[in-house]
Amino acid sequence: MNHRIEITLDPGDTFSWPVITEEEEASVLEVLRRGAMSARDVTLQFEKEYAAWQGNKFALGFNNGTSAMQTAMWAAGVRCGHEVLSQSVTYWATILPCLSLGAAPVFAEINPDTLTLDPGDIEHRITNRTRAIIVQHNCGYPTDMDPIIAIAKKYDLKIIEDVAHSQGSLYKGKKVGTFGDVSGISLMSTKSLVAGEGGLLTTDNKEIYEHAIAWGHYERFKDNIESKKLQSYRGLPLGGYKYRMHQLSSAVGRIQLKYYDERSREIRKAMNYFWDLMEEVPGVKAHRPPKNSNSTMGGWYNSMGLYRPEELGGLSVTAYVGALREQGVEVNPGINRPLHLHPLLHNCDIYGHGVPTVIAHQDKKKVKIPSLPKSEAIHGRCLKVPNFKKYNPAVIEQYAAVFQNVSGNYKTLLKTDPGNPPGFGKW
Ligand SMILES: *Cc1c(COP(=O)(O)O)cnc(C)c1O
Repeated sequence: MNHRIEITLDPGDTFSWPVITEEEEASVLEVLRRGAMSARDVTLQFEKEYAAWQGNKFALGFNNGTSAMQTAMWAAGVRCGHEVLSQSVTYWATILPCLSLGAAPVFAEINPDTLTLDPGDIEHRITNRTRAIIVQHNCGYPTDMDPIIAIAKKYDLKIIEDVAHSQGSLYKGKKVGTFGDVSGISLMSTKSLVAGEGGLLTTDNKEIYEHAIAWGHYERFKDNIESKKLQSYRGLPLGGYKYRMHQLSSAVGRIQLKYYDERSREIRKAMNYFWDLMEEVPGVKAHRPPKNSNSTMGGWYNSMGLYRPEELGGLSVTAYVGALREQGVEVNPGINRPLHLHPLLHNCDIYGHGVPTVIAHQDKKKVKIPSLPKSEAIHGRCLKVPNFKKYNPAVIEQYAAVFQNVSGNYKTLLKTDPGNPPGFGKW
């Protein structure tokens, strides 16, 4: 057995996130002292700056990313009886809000090497009820958009991007959030770009923008609305929701955005350094786009590694992570459980239709639970890796050395491998 090594260095600010300075404090205090928490001026500025930064015509502030996603779906035309296609391995807010619109989620596979929607598993799931494809650029990894755009064109479907993990990620040199018809963005306080609780919707389409205003922003649903379909309803929110962004959040978001490129550049430098050091370490592969692809991980949210037990005699990710933790690397195995396995998507009657909500507005009388073998196996083939936020080479080198050490000891670890528990992962 190799001599066991452990983390001994003080990480300092290597993992500190978000970075909050006196600038955020001053920005928030200004709003507080002016009594402008529910006003709109700071949010309007933030929207303008974010839209310009991402490369969209319009941005609209929200109280969180979940409400931005629900609004994006409605504004893109998702209605009662429609189907919305998305990956099963994601955070729930990517897709669950479609239930409140009377639409049904249809789940597809992820590509296990990118952890994003597999373009090859979409087309055979499209029906005459399908209205939209939602892509979530998981952990900052940009989805392979070209084939998805081609499919959406062919079947006249809308594309909705969930940019909660991926603010600033590039796909072939262009920022994600600019490929679809509309995007929803979370600015929750652990995300890459932070405003506190908050969200944004972005689009280049005026009709979609105005529908988003009409849905949950009654005070902005006024004379300036050009859409003839909407005009007679001005003044009241069509969704019956109030989704305005808190101005303490937009005050934080403006400052965070100002430094975001600089900070995410350093994060990418740190994470890429870690993965370069890991290149020869068996069992754990980088989750990042190929070099020279002109695609990037943006702010590298919730960094993951691709676990390859076959390179370690079949050692379970549970045992591998157990050894890492014993040696001072505080990470977890797996990824969120695929949504299609959760009982909410099988038999829950949320609204009292007398049938499971997922089929409440569908012709089919029986819930069909898809079989998605790649998604169902993914929890045994992923692990969280340290989220390096600062380029501190000595600290990063020590973490990589512990991974190398654990991989080197796999034969010893196999002797006491408990295997993976059934169905681990969140929810
Ligand atoms: C966090 C998150 C959301 C929802 O954003 P909130 O601001 O937490 O409501 C949506 N999609 C994904 C992928 C997320 O991670």
